[in-house]
Amino acid sequence: MKSFSMIEIGQVGWIEKDKPTAGILDAIVRPLAVSPCTSDIHTAFEGGLGDRHNMTLGHEAVGEIVEVGSEVKDFKPGDRVVVPAITPDWRSIEAQDGYHQHSNKMLSGWKFSNFKDGVFAEYFHVNDADMNLAKLPEEIPLTTAVMITDMMTTGFHGAELANIKIGASVAVIGIGPVGLMAVAGAFLRGAGRIFVVGSRQNCIDVAKSFGATDVINYKNGDIAEQVLNATNGKGVDSVIIAGAGTEIMKSAVKMTKPGGTISNVNYFGEGEIIPIPRIEWGCGMAHKQIRGGLCPGGRLRMERLINIVKYGRVNPGKLVTHVFNGFGNMEKALLLMREKPADLIKPVVIVD
Ligand code: NDP
Ligand code: ZN
Repeated sequence: MKSFSMIEIGQVGWIEKDKPTAGILDAIVRPLAVSPCTSDIHTAFEGGLGDRHNMTLGHEAVGEIVEVGSEVKDFKPGDRVVVPAITPDWRSIEAQDGYHQHSNKMLSGWKFSNFKDGVFAEYFHVNDADMNLAKLPEEIPLTTAVMITDMMTTGFHGAELANIKIGASVAVIGIGPVGLMAVAGAFLRGAGRIFVVGSRQNCIDVAKSFGATDVINYKNGDIAEQVLNATNGKGVDSVIIAGAGTEIMKSAVKMTKPGGTISNVNYFGEGEIIPIPRIEWGCGMAHKQIRGGLCPGGRLRMERLINIVKYGRVNPGKLVTHVFNGFGNMEKALLLMREKPADLIKPVVIVD
């Protein structure tokens, strides 16, 4: 079968691979729609995870099941499914402890295009199908559904980690697709005032539609100063980081109130150290919590997010700005994600 792979750091392309086979609990899925992620760019072009050779890229897909193992109970060939980016080993001590994202090892719940072949191939393997897949309701379009697998769960996790109280002030740094879903998540969690930091107009428009109240352009000077000026020098209760490089932590800490929370869902693809500014962190005594996490995956998480879409709470389909028909466009879509033209939020490739 054909696989769109990271051949080595800096080089991607189509290669031939053996079709995967299902173990007794697993499924083999044929993708119907896929989307490249900024994380694929960090992994393939920046070597964010270290060396990977001939590894199929991609972790955002909805698809059709073509094969299931003998012990799979709830799914059968022909079912259309939402496949979470994170497909943990649910029989692990870490999952039992509440951190399925790190089942067996740090970040190991993230298997696709990290510890095993990803979803940009004619077929891909899903471990523990009953625990990791969710049925795709008829009424949700494929392009919208593929946004649930990673963008929605990640952005919402940013809001979950941010300890948002009803009426609280929140700043979302970065309003690419992840940050936009964090805005929607902060709104659902009851934020009163939501600052967003970005520069591209189409992202700002979507951010406002998801509940942003104040827009800060990082190209117009220090973003922490801008947020402090707008809040009588107090700062915000919660900051969600969903963009920029490691230096952004300095701004995030600076614009957070004492007792506030900094929530990071960025994948810092480069650099050795993430700097915490000493004075703004109260010389270590400001009670400003810094948290960060990989998005939750698995079946229950997907089913809950599907409900949010199905019952009209949030429409993640707004993120999709470019739709390509045909798997042959995979490279074009991935490179768009690298170039980030002004009109792009997320591209989707319809496979057939
Ligand atoms: P994008 O690159 O599309 O968006 C980045 C955003 O950050 C843009 O709004 C950009 O603004 C803004 N930005 C860039 N530089 C700065 C700066 N110096 N100061 C302030 N804002 C800045 O990324 P995605 O939304 O696709 O992804 C965000 C991050 O989330 C990535 O690192 C990705 O790898 C990671 N990720 C993490 C996951 C997890 O589980 N934790 C899962 C999925 C993704 P503008 O465009 O206006 O210039
Ligand atoms: Zn991703």
